[in-house]
Amino acid sequence: MHKETVDFIRQTFKEPSDFIPLHEPRFVGNERKYVLDAIDSTFVSSVGKYVDQFEQMMCDITGAKYAVAIVNGTNALHLSLILAGVKAGDEVISQSLTFIATANAIAYCNATPHFVDVDKKTMGLSPSLLKKHLQNIALIKEGACYNKLTGKKIAACVPMHTFGLPLYIDELIEVCNEYHIPVIEDAAESLGSYYKDKHTGTFGLLGTFSFNGNKTVTSGGGGAIVTNNKELAKQAKHLSTQSKIPHKWEYKHDNIGYNYRMPNINAALACAQLEQLNYYIKNKRDLSDKYFNFFENQKNVKLIREVESGKANYWLNAILLNDKKARDNFLEYTNSNGIMTRPIWGLMNNLEMFKDCPKADLSNAKYFEDRIVNITSSVRINE
Ligand SMILES: *Cc1c(COP(=O)(O)O)cnc(C)c1O
Repeated sequence: MHKETVDFIRQTFKEPSDFIPLHEPRFVGNERKYVLDAIDSTFVSSVGKYVDQFEQMMCDITGAKYAVAIVNGTNALHLSLILAGVKAGDEVISQSLTFIATANAIAYCNATPHFVDVDKKTMGLSPSLLKKHLQNIALIKEGACYNKLTGKKIAACVPMHTFGLPLYIDELIEVCNEYHIPVIEDAAESLGSYYKDKHTGTFGLLGTFSFNGNKTVTSGGGGAIVTNNKELAKQAKHLSTQSKIPHKWEYKHDNIGYNYRMPNINAALACAQLEQLNYYIKNKRDLSDKYFNFFENQKNVKLIREVESGKANYWLNAILLNDKKARDNFLEYTNSNGIMTRPIWGLMNNLEMFKDCPKADLSNAKYFEDRIVNITSSVRINE
């Protein structure tokens, strides 16, 4: 059975080499031109026209009023948590089924992740399960939410759009609003994904993106924060620039700041890549349709698809196998036949650093942890 899958992937990708990676970056547009231009201009570092252009493009693409270029997605999350008011000793609600960067960024604030389960369809934080959990443990005091069991403030909620599949973000925001919890969307994987025709990352107070080499488009390394709040955007820029008060020659800093700026040379690459975004998404959505038709005839494999109100970028295609043993068989067969496949992340609450964090029932996350595998998802340029 898995031989058919390997053959199908080889036919679909027509890669010249025997080994087919999970997701490769593609440089088919102005990448070389813009990067060379950045070098020729000598503006390769913290400021330059490509940084400005990148921020404008991110506004145009997402529909957010403001975008701030950041050195990577993890730091974009860290800064957003600070901007949302997360302080040492607070708790931050998030998924245990996510990439470690989400939980790490919370830890950088000396705050504690508080894990709530994901939805059975979207693999993103579940609005109904969050609501149920908060009904049990939350206490509203002076306009803020507290965990009755720990006494700690629940200062933010960070849902994540898994593999670019939009989660039920508007319902989630509704629940969080009811409990006075600001929402930061980890949209690292969901550039080009929409929920109810609105771009992911633009529903919450702040949204963050990643332009790491494995993402839909890449700047080598890079990130962005988007928001509709002018003051927060200004603060994001300021904090990411060592909190330096702009001045022709003087060094004056009004806060502990960070060096979280995206270098202009990376922004040059990002701009060229963003020009390709629509083409990439079309290509990826077409690939997901191809996989869907292929797996439809296989009883023991199910391709995960977007929910009705969502439009996914299908960054990484994900299949669901019957159980852990079936998953391991699939991983073993594909990887020993030159097709790189990978299981979903292990749950955050099972890691040594996060094992004592507060958590709700995590049955859905556990279900996916045992069964989900990512399959070849690069943009096909030989189409
Ligand atoms: C990639 C990713 C990040 C972090 O992005 P970097 O740019 O690699 O720091 C954060 N969250 C999720 C869910 C990601 O997939």
